[in-house]
Amino acid sequence: MVEYEVIVSGGGITGLATAIGLCQRDVSTLLITDPLTKPKRGNFGLDLRTLALSTVSTDWLYKLELAKTTPRQRIESMRVWEARGATYIDFNATSVGTNALAWTYEHQSLVAELYTQCTKKLDVRSDSKISKIDKNQRSVTMNNGETITCKLLVIAEGAQSFSRKMLGVPWRRHDLKQRAIVTLARLVEGHKNIAFQRFGDGVCALLPMQDADVVSVIWSVPEKYVQELVNLSDEDFKMRLESQFAVICGEFTAVDRRVNFPLEQSLADQFLLREWIVLLGDSAHTLHPLAGQGVNLGLEDARQLIAILKGGFDSRSIQPTLRHYAARRRVRAQLLQRAMTFFDATWSWCSPTTRWLRNTGTRRFNNCDFLKEQVIREAMGIGPLAKIR
Ligand SMILES: Cc1cc2nc3c(=O)[nH]c(=O)nc-3n(C[C@H](O)[C@H](O)[C@H](O)COP(=O)(O)OP(=O)(O)OC[C@H]3O[C@@H](n4cnc5c(N)ncnc54)[C@H](O)[C@@H]3O)c2cc1C
Repeated sequence: MVEYEVIVSGGGITGLATAIGLCQRDVSTLLITDPLTKPKRGNFGLDLRTLALSTVSTDWLYKLELAKTTPRQRIESMRVWEARGATYIDFNATSVGTNALAWTYEHQSLVAELYTQCTKKLDVRSDSKISKIDKNQRSVTMNNGETITCKLLVIAEGAQSFSRKMLGVPWRRHDLKQRAIVTLARLVEGHKNIAFQRFGDGVCALLPMQDADVVSVIWSVPEKYVQELVNLSDEDFKMRLESQFAVICGEFTAVDRRVNFPLEQSLADQFLLREWIVLLGDSAHTLHPLAGQGVNLGLEDARQLIAILKGGFDSRSIQPTLRHYAARRRVRAQLLQRAMTFFDATWSWCSPTTRWLRNTGTRRFNNCDFLKEQVIREAMGIGPLAKIR
């Protein structure tokens, strides 16, 4: 029977980074995942799905010698405002002594780079999947009939994880009744390394891409508006974006085709099962993308798991540590979910009183450097809340 110390099932960014991180700690690791898929490239020749990663996440990937050749774009500052508001909030990387708030990547370029590194560094199975997990024998059976044992099984199969469902882990799913419409657009005046986010009819973010005039558009909208936005011609969609953004970032020259994704916030009841099965990344928790924290949270799970495995697999010492790890990670995911719910709800209040309160609060907040710096540190993954272990 084949044996590994760790089996990682799922080759999204979380699973791939975990597998490489473990391998670099000399942990014998097997990665089981689907074959690499092609990016959904649009008319601009770029992946329509993009990702903003915090500097903590990108620094960690660099430390693992990963993603060094993957094209990325620095976000130096960010401007946030609301449709009916009279003011905005500016966040600048320089205010916390750094040159980037975050970095944007094409999603599939990053996945492809990490996947290639995995195939060079460890055993990868992309021809079969786990069909059975023997909780007592600490083994998995693949759908080709092969059985493999391990000391730890890491499930990083994303929100629809088959293994999590098979294990019967309760999944608290909060359907946000929203979808994210995603595309790329070109700005006449370019993005100048600034990200923009507008709260109004949903939350719409423009993230700077490598081309100086291209931004990634991520627009989370209530389901009732989705069809209308999807059916608009490119020209009408461009005009819709202009009506929201032109005052702040000028006009658009073109928009790419649109794809859309359902949004949910979900949480597994347990992140650790039978002391040897760990849920990681979107298999354990999903977040509203309004703050772009989903992968960052998954990579945080990965970093902390790898850190506790460095002492080896002595079952007596590892079990309490794993239990503590799983409990803390669940608290951290809940904290972020509540923060996303709070932001999403706060900006949807639209009575005159709440709008006045919000405007006053926004103006005061924008003038309070200390508070803004704390928020930047949290979003960058270096604030006190982000350091909860
Ligand atoms: C519109 C949108 C924008 C977002 N923007 C950001 C952002 O800017 N920043 C950010 O940090 N997060 C963002 N997120 C969240 C982010 O995309 C997810 O949190 C992230 O992709 C989760 O990564 P993962 O590796 O856990 O899971 P996934 O990316 O879902 O990967 C799971 C992998 O497992 C494989 N798999 C599935 N089932 C099996 C199986 N049975 N056996 C083996 N393999 C399997 C899949 O093929 C896939 O490769 C965004 C999400 C959305 C919807």
